[in-house]
Amino acid sequence: MIMLQGKGVSKGVANGPLYFFQRPDTTISDTPAADIEAEKARIAAAQKKAIDQLNALADKAREDTGDETAILFETHAMFVEDEDYVDCMMNTLTERGCLAEKAVELAGEEFAAMLAAMDDPYMQGRAADIKDVTRRILNNLMGIAEGGIDSEVPVILAADDLAPSETLQLDKSKILGFITQGGSSNSHTAILARTMGIPAICGLGEALKADQSGREIYIDGETGQVAIDPDKITLSSFQTKMEKQREMKELMETMKGQGDVTMDGREMMVYCNIGSPADVSAVLSNDGQGIGLFRSEFLYLASSDYPTEEEQFQAYKEVAAAMGGKRVVIRTLDIGADKQVDYFQLHKEENPALGVRAIRICLNRPEVFRTQLRALYRASAYGKVAIMFPMITSVWEVKECKRACQKVMAELDREGVPYRQDTEIGVMIETPASVLVAEELAKEVDFFSVGTNDLTQYTLACDRQANDLGKFFDPHHPAVLRALKLAADAAHKAGIWIGICGELGADLTLLETFLAIGIDELSVSPSAVLPLRAKIRKSIAKTCTLEKLEC
Ligand code: PEP
Ligand code: MG
Repeated sequence: MIMLQGKGVSKGVANGPLYFFQRPDTTISDTPAADIEAEKARIAAAQKKAIDQLNALADKAREDTGDETAILFETHAMFVEDEDYVDCMMNTLTERGCLAEKAVELAGEEFAAMLAAMDDPYMQGRAADIKDVTRRILNNLMGIAEGGIDSEVPVILAADDLAPSETLQLDKSKILGFITQGGSSNSHTAILARTMGIPAICGLGEALKADQSGREIYIDGETGQVAIDPDKITLSSFQTKMEKQREMKELMETMKGQGDVTMDGREMMVYCNIGSPADVSAVLSNDGQGIGLFRSEFLYLASSDYPTEEEQFQAYKEVAAAMGGKRVVIRTLDIGADKQVDYFQLHKEENPALGVRAIRICLNRPEVFRTQLRALYRASAYGKVAIMFPMITSVWEVKECKRACQKVMAELDREGVPYRQDTEIGVMIETPASVLVAEELAKEVDFFSVGTNDLTQYTLACDRQANDLGKFFDPHHPAVLRALKLAADAAHKAGIWIGICGELGADLTLLETFLAIGIDELSVSPSAVLPLRAKIRKSIAKTCTLEKLEC
């Protein structure tokens, strides 16, 4: 048995085979081919495999979600066989005498550029499909497993660390838990694990090794313990905990359908954080009252090019409609810092967390902002969408955002496109500056939502990504809690509501402090809704105190 100790960042106990994630080598060499015919045969085999994969995906999609997604995969299968596209690959191969990978890459680029240059918007839209199909054929040629996990059975996924974009591309149905050598509890990968409701542990260091792949492993996302090939006593203690976990889950089921109200009648809005439309099912099954944070940037991270207005509209509409009139707060793009997207071509920064990220990118690139705002306003006609701006530090930024919204609404009016004029606009309070100008900000917007992950980072001058800051990184620090109180007082003075959508919102040990501060909404990962409800229902708001704000 090997016992490892890390930091639990997403609760729960899980077991399965350990699978060490290998970052695929995606470099394509331009060396001459020794045998052109053999390279042609490799392309043909990779194409055949792509068609089989796409047909299987279409069958599964038809069973799970219906025709719309199935047709998309079937169309991709048709592209793989498209005569012009295939000719382009084979001709490139013959003319350049290169390896199959290079020919496929070049043909894909050429074909996508040709489609993008056409006048017909439908054909322009197909450029993204060709890029996707080309990536699939290339993966087959290079032996890169789809969804990053080359295993028939679900696994405990281990890695040195995982970037949010890598995590998003993994096949979630194959993941029972995450463990990483590096990472921190506020990293977006940990946040994704919590959204998915699966256990995760970070900071295991070098003791976690790739050659442990395939061994049976148990992980406890609460204590941060990992047991590889556990002995009898350890096994039985993990199994007891798993049994308790099952019982607790059953008990929590009784909370469904109950109100989020304290014993003395104070109501709290308990909402959920999501990263994609696929997460809505977890919100509904955990009885979340709404969505308090849809991290829209995950749509950008999961894509190899800017998502179009139409793609974004479909995603936002799907969430708004599925929530059936309950509030859905969609945050505009928060790229930068640890969320890097290649096609944005952001400049390399010494301190990216203090650099051009989030709203700063949107205000610097009005076209990117406009596309997203158009998609958001169009989706507002299908539910109760609210728009939220991240990383605000100044009143002028909010005014500029509102002007961009006005412009988009005027455009939609001219085009006769439906949208809701009363769509709420809110800002995230996640910088000390926004706390200090909260009174002025509150006059401009309909709500505040506190991003405690960043607010803690910027207030305490502690990098949220670092895992060695230990006791210096303290989200319970009175300075953070006082910042919350200042923002809450400013919100209430202006008659608007205030929520918390950072990870602190799910911290049950702070619930009484939040009640004393007057927080109106807590937005947490779906799996945290029912335990939070149970605690709210046992609390008495009147007796809650601000003692944790004292030094
Ligand atoms: C936060 O900073 O608390 C927040 C909710 O936003 P993100 O974690 O995506 O930066
Ligand atoms: Mg943030």
